[in-house]
Amino acid sequence: MKSRERVFRELLERLTKSPLYIEKLGNRNVTRLSLAQIGLLPLTRKEELRRAGSFGHLAVDMREVAQYHESFGTTGEPSASWFTSKDLKTGGKQMRECGVGLNPDDLVLIRFPYAMSLPAFLMQHAARQAGAGVVPASGRTPVTPYPRVLELMRRLGVTIVAGLPREMELLAETARLLGSDIKKDYPDLRALCVAGELTGELRRQHIERLWGVPVFNLYGSTETGNIAAMCEHGIMHIVEKDFVVETLAEDGFAPVDPGAKGFAAITTLTHEASPLLRYFNEDVVSVEACACACGRTGSKLVHYGRAKDRIRFGEIVLDGKDIQDAVYSLVPAPDAWKAVEQADGIRFLLDSHRRKEWSEEGVRARLSERLGVPVDVEFAAEGMLLDRDELVRNAPSKKPVYIQRNGDAAPDAPAANPVRDWLGRGRRKLIDGRFSEARRLFGQATAFDPSDAEAHALLAAAYGRLIEAGNMLEKIKLLPQLEKEIAAALAIDQKLPFARRMNGARLLNTPGTLGGDPSAAAEEFRYCIAHGQADADVWVSLSECYMKLGDSRQAIESLRQALDRSPKHVRANEWMRQLAGNSEASPSDGEVREDQ
Ligand SMILES: [Zn+2]
Repeated sequence: MKSRERVFRELLERLTKSPLYIEKLGNRNVTRLSLAQIGLLPLTRKEELRRAGSFGHLAVDMREVAQYHESFGTTGEPSASWFTSKDLKTGGKQMRECGVGLNPDDLVLIRFPYAMSLPAFLMQHAARQAGAGVVPASGRTPVTPYPRVLELMRRLGVTIVAGLPREMELLAETARLLGSDIKKDYPDLRALCVAGELTGELRRQHIERLWGVPVFNLYGSTETGNIAAMCEHGIMHIVEKDFVVETLAEDGFAPVDPGAKGFAAITTLTHEASPLLRYFNEDVVSVEACACACGRTGSKLVHYGRAKDRIRFGEIVLDGKDIQDAVYSLVPAPDAWKAVEQADGIRFLLDSHRRKEWSEEGVRARLSERLGVPVDVEFAAEGMLLDRDELVRNAPSKKPVYIQRNGDAAPDAPAANPVRDWLGRGRRKLIDGRFSEARRLFGQATAFDPSDAEAHALLAAAYGRLIEAGNMLEKIKLLPQLEKEIAAALAIDQKLPFARRMNGARLLNTPGTLGGDPSAAAEEFRYCIAHGQADADVWVSLSECYMKLGDSRQAIESLRQALDRSPKHVRANEWMRQLAGNSEASPSDGEVREDQ
């Protein structure tokens, strides 16, 4: 094997063919510098890379190029990277450094997005080198929504899933919504490999608890390849054959002490097509030598998040990992969360299907104690952070936003599709009781894309709320509009649970002479419950159907289901009292029916 010193000299030689470095280094002859003198060379900033354009750091002839990748930064300007066949092979080896130990018996489901981004391809090369099989089940595409990925995993006996950590959390939540026990239903699954997002130790352990298998973390980027991989002892070892990772102080860029936090500067020793020298990737890391029981010699790396996610309150500096660790120290850990920077602290939005186990005061105290700053807590309404309907339907996965800094224009990434934006804002208006504004936003969405079933169903929901709140004249005026929107939603997508729910409400609330039918309504609500919409309100509506049908035993059972989910539900409690008083059926009578 070549010495690192020799590989470094070869890199310096290669840089003389890269337009970016020809310009940066001018007529300085750097090819005789040793690795210890790396600090004498200039840093490469992200901005420079973007300004240099797609070909700016291409250091090989186009005929040697095997693949091109791009990643989008916050500015929307892409950072480019080029790969020769040898680079891809090297990238595969970098992934194989991982303690998961890929082998020919493995069937690896790759959930990383395949379009433009790198990890899917490196994992693919790693699997091929190890003789393992691959199931390409890309994220961010309508071809492989969450339920289909779960079905593939089960049917094919997938042994390893590789993807963003968020995908592992969302797959677990989808499985739960579909009534599956993930620890039992995937007996062949033996490990998960995650990359592409910050995964602190507490988040990693949370995902291990969700799935009941070991989780291996990988750290890299599109511009560099995979820089560090987790071994079987949970240590992130730097792949030192291929990378030099320096840790620099924020001001002045002097090296920090081993093990101290600093900003990463990555030098790609072996990358042929688009080599990088001291690439300042704006990540906060610490690096120190370690003697690990696994026998790997590479230094240990800890990733603390991106510089742009760092929040300061006076002397207190909070990195992405500090915030993430605090969130994942909660019991239960949330299914979805977002931290919003405020002038004097952090506001947390949290969502968990086990939220009954949280107290607002307990959660607030816990987060505030861990972070050392004032904390505000809001338990997010259904659909605000996590749309569980979308998970169980054929909706593609999306890019999450965890930390929202002061001055970020919009709460989410810029809306590529205005319909999603209008629907999101309309939903919040519905929750806030601003029904006319919700109707306007949903109306815009249906006008912009008349083929969007969800938009029609939501518009129907807005009409429903206006009808409830309005006088008789308004009811007569709005009812046909509500019926029209429900019919449109069902004509486009008969399986959409939310459209079925609206239809159930219509059948329940319309008098029999005008087409109402409580029995058909009950069927619609049972459909919703079987398809992931089993919140307290649906159970209360189902109970109302049974009351109209004169079946008080079923009505009570449905109310009990509602109260299990939301013990303080006003209407459920009130009806329960009335029914339990009037009926001979006691609340402990009978079992919940199978088809519910
Ligand atoms: Zn190790």
